[in-house]
Amino acid sequence: MPIADSLDQIDHIDFKRAEAEIFLNPEKKKVSGEITYNFDMLKSIDSFYVDARNINFEEVLLNGASKDFRNSGARIWITNQLQASDNNSLKLKFSVKPKDALYFINWDIADSLNAPKQIWTQGQGRYTSSWLPSFDDQREKIEFDISYYFPKELEVMANGRLTGTAIKDSVKEWNFQMESPMSSYLLAFAAANYAVQESESASGVSLQYYMPVWDKAKMEPTYRHTRKIFNFLEGEIGVAYPWENYKQAPVRDFLYSGMENTSATIFDHAFITDSIAYKDRNYVSVNAHEMAHQWFGNFVTAETQNDHWLHEGFATFYALLAEREIFGEEYYYWKLYQWAEQLKEMSDSGKGEPVTRAGASSLTYYQKGAWALHMLREKVGRDAFNKAVKNYLELYKYKTATTDNFIAEVEATANIDLSDFMSKWLNQTAFQGFAALNSLKKSEFIQKHLNMLALRETPLDKKSELLSAALNFPVSDYTGQEVVYQLKGETSDLAINLYKKAFATNNIYVRQAIASSMEQIPPELKNEFESLLNDKSYLTKELALLKLWMNFPQQVTQYLDQTKGVVGFTNKNVRMLWLTLNLVTPNYQPQKKQQTYNELSGYTAKYYPIEVRENAFGYLYQINSFSTQNLLDLMQGTQHPASRFRNYSRELLAELLKREEYRQKFLALKDRLSQKEWDYLQSKIN
Ligand SMILES: [Zn+2]
Repeated sequence: MPIADSLDQIDHIDFKRAEAEIFLNPEKKKVSGEITYNFDMLKSIDSFYVDARNINFEEVLLNGASKDFRNSGARIWITNQLQASDNNSLKLKFSVKPKDALYFINWDIADSLNAPKQIWTQGQGRYTSSWLPSFDDQREKIEFDISYYFPKELEVMANGRLTGTAIKDSVKEWNFQMESPMSSYLLAFAAANYAVQESESASGVSLQYYMPVWDKAKMEPTYRHTRKIFNFLEGEIGVAYPWENYKQAPVRDFLYSGMENTSATIFDHAFITDSIAYKDRNYVSVNAHEMAHQWFGNFVTAETQNDHWLHEGFATFYALLAEREIFGEEYYYWKLYQWAEQLKEMSDSGKGEPVTRAGASSLTYYQKGAWALHMLREKVGRDAFNKAVKNYLELYKYKTATTDNFIAEVEATANIDLSDFMSKWLNQTAFQGFAALNSLKKSEFIQKHLNMLALRETPLDKKSELLSAALNFPVSDYTGQEVVYQLKGETSDLAINLYKKAFATNNIYVRQAIASSMEQIPPELKNEFESLLNDKSYLTKELALLKLWMNFPQQVTQYLDQTKGVVGFTNKNVRMLWLTLNLVTPNYQPQKKQQTYNELSGYTAKYYPIEVRENAFGYLYQINSFSTQNLLDLMQGTQHPASRFRNYSRELLAELLKREEYRQKFLALKDRLSQKEWDYLQSKIN
């Protein structure tokens, strides 16, 4: 009897090592090559499989002999009576045009446009078996040694240690070797026109930073604190970093914020920051999160879907501990406080989930999981907690573990019964809001902040002294912002004076709160508000430009001139607002209107990063000025692999299709749409 899909092959075979040669053909969007698995047969068996989604096989060799096989389209099955035996080999020659999990970016764009060409992978939530015969079951851990063949102009980051390269004609070979086994979903590479820098952790681990060559100046602010985070995690976790080195690379249009591929984290282009962008949206948190996964998830992997919080809860909690080292105690408690608010809201609306539920939401796995660990650490103390985590990692290293396995280590180390803790924090749908609040109140900052929040309904003249005192040096980023929010809509002399004091704190986040919350700018605050345009924050600049443009129409020329060179975040937030305001200000640069429109309209093109495209679509919608090309680009967006952009495009399309003029315009695109795009449009119109 062949093994049924539901039966665990893992009890019969142990795949140990893989050696592969993989050729990337970006022009044809094709992957081909061969992979040889070395395995032990634990029990006799008459057939076995390797996961392979829509992969074609040319040849299958079992222990050197050619074998018949069955390709189900999801798996390749090899039928053969094998007795328990060590060191068997299975060699698969394959080729595939991956539908998922491996993405060719900008290879179909004309060279003259200079669009950066990239190739990258995403295994988790997708399947590595969409481009390489491998194992979807994360309990199957394999040591991979892979030689990749790429167009020679690309720099390649992949799992493990780079042991050699060679160039032959237009192709460059990259040999990567690993020393320890991991689950197939962690297999990855990113190939692009990268510059690479290297540093070393305190323990001597090589830390490698990849950055598109034209963004090289953003290397430092993007990767700021990486070494500090690494050293902190290694020290706090107490287990030496378990892989050869640690590399990170940003890619365009990534499906998530970041992915912790073993020793080769990939993160989204939008986290590339200069020193100004760093203040509002830096990579620190995602950086620390993915790094923590190298232990929690990659080194010790969850046994079942119910144990997924052992990845995300731990990565989120350890990232927060690392961030506390960088941003301080207030930041730590502020994050916990915000998460508690979100979790309480979810719980109060009856949508709470246990962290041990398979298929739970991100909020549950990440933030509720992190809260559980915060409470557990508080309960047993840092020493016992750290000792238990260390024991847990050492006991299950390069293997899988369950929630019970982890809890058993804590119970043993702290000599405590955790059944009550488990039922409240791990297995209950409701969030323990009261216990969380009591824990938060151990922070003096949180106590003060809660006192400030309690003043929300108090009339200004009864609380002005308290608000004023909260703006004294050194002002808290968070409480200072709360003071500003409580002034919203107030125009009395008392309020103006408090606003002036808030401006004068020179705290970038307090000033940003004014930029975001003030709609009508009182004349007495005009000068101060104008000074926001010079703040070193792209978010503040964007908000201030918009509000000034709305409040003081007679001075728009001055404001536009002052901000015309500013681009902003990777989504060009300031530039895109500037272009839009330019277009709706008739007497500003009247002779350049076409050029200005062309720039804004051009940003929806499919070779721009998705955060740029989304921003451009948003502004074009506001000024109701879509070109035919914009509509084509939008249709392309409705089929995009990155769900956040695909959903955005679909919502915008739905909005536009409410109007007859747009229905006609979209229908007229028929000959220029792909079959998938056309089918999707049809389904929305009918
Ligand atoms: Zn994660």
